Amino acid sequence: MAGRIPPRDIEAIKHRTNIADIVGEYVQLKGASVGSLKGLCPFHDEKSPSFNVRPDQGFYHCFGCGEGGDVYKFLQKLENITFYEAVEKCAAKISYQITYEAGSGRDEGVNRARLLAANEAAAKYFQQQLGTSEAQTARDFLTQRNFDQAASVHFGLGYAPKGWNGLGDALKAQGFTEEELSRSTLLSLRKVRATTSSEADWSGQSGTLPTR
Ligand SMILES: [Zn+2]
Repeated sequence: MAGRIPPRDIEAIKHRTNIADIVGEYVQLKGASVGSLKGLCPFHDEKSPSFNVRPDQGFYHCFGCGEGGDVYKFLQKLENITFYEAVEKCAAKISYQITYEAGSGRDEGVNRARLLAANEAAAKYFQQQLGTSEAQTARDFLTQRNFDQAASVHFGLGYAPKGWNGLGDALKAQGFTEEELSRSTLLSLRKVRATTSSEADWSGQSGTLPTR
């Protein structure tokens, strides 16, 4: 994906797309009343058409099952694609050149596997930090509560070091981009924290322990 689709393009594409052309690829539409087309609803099983499309208004609505929306919603729902993919599909249809902006939309850009990998790398980072000299207080804290090293490893406990950049620097050194880290929410917070399993929430706590 090339980047974010600006709202003006999203609007322009919708404006120039005839919803009846798109819906017509999936549903056989016939003229109903003025400005309205009718067909068998693709979202529920029916024998007589209660699925209406109003090209002038850019909306569809089914009186049988209540489904309704604009052309993007129709494509998302029927093709099981994201909002951005629906926009791109319409753009391609009308040969509209999208002016992509830097960054990414909410539903595109970074893939899920990378986000999971970033989270795993973050967990590993915090676990490694628990072995540093800075983390002595945290280790003492765990020992007092009968968490030995094996238990720490088993439960994925970690230590969040002082400073703001440790995690980001470590993950960027492993090849993760700022966008991936921000999308994974690992860097969207203002402070370093652990974000893996619920057990690892401990590590966020240990980083704030008073130092001796
Ligand atoms: Zn329906």
